[in-house]
Amino acid sequence: MSLQQSNAADEAADGRKDKLLTVSNVERTFQVGGAPLHVLKGINMELRPKQLVMLRGRSGSGKTTLLNSLGGLDMPSKGEIWFDGRPFHSMNDHQRTLVRRKDIGFIFQAFALMPLLSAKENVELSLRMAGVKKSLWKERVEHCLAMVGLEKRMHHRPFELSGGEQQRVAIAKAIAHRPKLLLADEPTAELDTGMAAQIMSVFQTIIRTEEVTICMTTHDPTILEVADHVYEMVDGKFI
Ligand code: ADP
Repeated sequence: MSLQQSNAADEAADGRKDKLLTVSNVERTFQVGGAPLHVLKGINMELRPKQLVMLRGRSGSGKTTLLNSLGGLDMPSKGEIWFDGRPFHSMNDHQRTLVRRKDIGFIFQAFALMPLLSAKENVELSLRMAGVKKSLWKERVEHCLAMVGLEKRMHHRPFELSGGEQQRVAIAKAIAHRPKLLLADEPTAELDTGMAAQIMSVFQTIIRTEEVTICMTTHDPTILEVADHVYEMVDGKFI
């Protein structure tokens, strides 16, 4: 590497220091029926610690594809994604899985809870998957369920909880292993306005107390005002 190249690399690394995630010129192309489908067309964005960032756009605009790339579930076809100083775009599947298990939590639209397990057992499952020592589980489960206001519903199973409560268990599950980044795909889509507002209030609380950064997709205009930043997506690009 020449001195000039090395200086440029140092400057780029300096620029990323106060950011949890930096996305540069990301493209994603799928092959559909032998033809390329360009879904992400040059995305640039950054997430700083303790931010609440929203990706807004119509169905099919590429929000979920981008969210999956941010969490290392999908790989960009071109461009770079730096997560916490590490190059996600050049890691193999195993390396990305390790980062994900330790530092990233996911929340999905349809809650994704194990139906036969209680709220407590669902959170424990997440701690087991993340390799957290069993001696720490009790404190962590109680803390996370209290954080989402469900400490008294610990032994309830999903069918004994409302939609909003199930989503709060899903949040407790997603933050149990203390991730730095929480990614949520349409977390309020199946909820009425009151329950959606509760979820946003829980998000604000956990950003403060757990020091997590949240990036979520939405097409609900009523919740945008609580975001630190909103990226508007149209046809694979930000406008
Ligand atoms: P959004 O979340 O905004 O609704 P998506 O990211 O789910 O958008 O999808 C954007 C486009 O990419 C859609 O046309 C979808 O069909 C396509 N797409 C997503 N994933 C794949 C895939 N694995 N293979 C082929 N096409 C895909």
